[in-house]
Amino acid sequence: MSDISIRYQTGAPQNLEKRFAARAAEMLPSEIRSLFAVASRPEIVSLAGGMPNLSALPMEMIAGVVKELILTNGSEALQYGSGQGHPKLREQICDVMALEGIRANPDDVVVTTGSQQALDLISRIFIDPGDVVLVEAPSYVGALGTFRQYQASVVHVEMDNDGLVPNSLRAAIKSVRATGRKIKFLYLIPNYQNPTGVCLPADRRTEILSICREEEIFVVEDNPYGLLGFDKPSPNAMRAEDSENVIYLGSFSKTIAPGLRVGWALVPQSLKDKLVISSESSILCPSNFTQLTISSYLADQPWRDQIASFCELYKVRRDAMLESLEQHFPAEATWTKPGGGFYVWVNLPAEIDTKALMPKAIVAKVAYVPGSAFYADGLGSWSMRLSYCHPTPERIREGVKALGGVIKQEMSRRGTALT
Ligand code: PMP
Repeated sequence: MSDISIRYQTGAPQNLEKRFAARAAEMLPSEIRSLFAVASRPEIVSLAGGMPNLSALPMEMIAGVVKELILTNGSEALQYGSGQGHPKLREQICDVMALEGIRANPDDVVVTTGSQQALDLISRIFIDPGDVVLVEAPSYVGALGTFRQYQASVVHVEMDNDGLVPNSLRAAIKSVRATGRKIKFLYLIPNYQNPTGVCLPADRRTEILSICREEEIFVVEDNPYGLLGFDKPSPNAMRAEDSENVIYLGSFSKTIAPGLRVGWALVPQSLKDKLVISSESSILCPSNFTQLTISSYLADQPWRDQIASFCELYKVRRDAMLESLEQHFPAEATWTKPGGGFYVWVNLPAEIDTKALMPKAIVAKVAYVPGSAFYADGLGSWSMRLSYCHPTPERIREGVKALGGVIKQEMSRRGTALT
């Protein structure tokens, strides 16, 4: 008898759960993760995942960088390194951030295993069970999952087509404080937000910074998409305006490659040591190998041109998606028009539940992420996130057409049912 059947018979998994820490109850698979298996079937057009498109990355050149690194500096690249991250890369990260107006000291940069690890470390430092984290409505599913695992109470703040609404932030702070709960930070993605694609204008950035300073609430600025503006550069980073109250998160996942798993946090000086100690306890140190690969790439290769090629590739796909939405989606649906990044956010008419619609979309060979995945409070059921980053423009058109058909069919089915 196999192990699995014994466990099933004795009900061990349930017993095991009783032995877990309370926080393990919040370790649930994300909706996106469970969709991946279906969405990655070759016959399905996946508008679901947000995987960067690496077809524009010159693999030969990357192979050359790696080979040269190992041959010339293998003993450092393959050794343990500093818990804070490699000093040379931390300097280069400051040059990258300068493109968005940030003047930073490399000593305030902590390199992490993707910015996802930085989210985890910050949560670990700040969140006690029941503490409030303010987030945009909707927000990045990976951040919601992390906050949930630290047993935070996530409170969404209204967004419009220009991002987080400052007056709604004021109101949310007031109503949370009236319940006596502590607000630990505001988490937001000001550039080409995941999942909506919207970009926060400069004047709102200033206003939000000033509200948070006054209210003594840290701002966690998550900025993986900032350099992926198609039509014009994004406004300066919020951290450029405030070095004391902003924790800035950056990543090479979208500008170079996610498989290298290199991101960073730029933190107010007083937080740096806590972050490094916290990171050392989970990973000892970030990988020297991937840090030095990125360092050599930034030093010797035309990385700005490479980002421009990525932008060109994504812009063509964004245009294909917006054009085909116009052509194939019902007139009653509305959607965002992103100026960069990977995502379009669609609101459907007639209270169509996008989670319930998913099996029909799969039959029509197209996948998306239902809007409720991006809310901690069960909202978003009539919305969906469509990603245009990965499929070819032709496949995007095909997928949007198929999805438009499924939605229209659902609308007419309901119309018929009502009469
Ligand atoms: N923040 C946002 C908004 C993201 O979209 C992602 C990845 N999709 C991450 C953080 C994590 O990225 P990484 O860990 O690869 O840097």
